[in-house]
Amino acid sequence: MVQNAGTVQWIAFAAAFLAIAVWETVSPLRDPKVSTPKRWGIHLVLLVLSGVLESFVLRITPLAAALAAPGWGLLRNLPTAAQWAAAILLLDLVHYGTHRLYHRVGFLWRLHSVHHSDPDFDVSTAVRFHPLEVILTSAIYVAAILVLAPPPAAVAAAELHTTLLNFFAHANARLPARASALLGRILITPGLHRLHHSIREQDQGKNLGQTFVWWDRLFGTYGPEPASGPVSDVGLEEASPEQATRIWFLFAEPFQPPEKR
Ligand SMILES: [Zn+2]
Repeated sequence: MVQNAGTVQWIAFAAAFLAIAVWETVSPLRDPKVSTPKRWGIHLVLLVLSGVLESFVLRITPLAAALAAPGWGLLRNLPTAAQWAAAILLLDLVHYGTHRLYHRVGFLWRLHSVHHSDPDFDVSTAVRFHPLEVILTSAIYVAAILVLAPPPAAVAAAELHTTLLNFFAHANARLPARASALLGRILITPGLHRLHHSIREQDQGKNLGQTFVWWDRLFGTYGPEPASGPVSDVGLEEASPEQATRIWFLFAEPFQPPEKR
């Protein structure tokens, strides 16, 4: 089961990435500031390294964690439908909480700033993470699964929609305003997530959700898409486009003492 789910996950990952990349090519929203091949090369290195290190360090996938979860798991005794609903919602809440933590705690922010330092915003930004952030995020997620003991199939479904929505939310593509407003009642849309990547510091604490927009609305971190449309300036003021496209800078920056940053 774990092996088959892993294969499905990789096929969904590749298909979703390609679908969004085609959408961005056919209907691009903003022209890139820096070379796209250069950025995509860096993001590929980060993706591969993160994947290798994650499997080496953690040695357990979310699905394997669900299959190995203890009998006292918090969702175990609920009716099946309630187990599924709680699993889908609570696992998304774990993503929201983890993301919020990355924006609140100094060292975690320095790790997460690798993601935000991207001077452009497109489907490849969805995999631009410091490997240590990927490992930490997965460790928190796996721990939550062990405590909750959700149905393994619900974990597989959550993994799938998280992957799809992660690529969708980073799309640099035109989405009609009406469709964006409708979808934005339920999901984190590209316009809402683009606001989170705004160069303006006060916007970076908004729209921290992974899939559903409800957590941001519930916990006061929701920020509507500007009436003028998706924000144009993304990235971090403290990281120049030149620095943000140097792979060694990205690896080392979180560990630099404050005076050297
Ligand atoms: Zn963030």
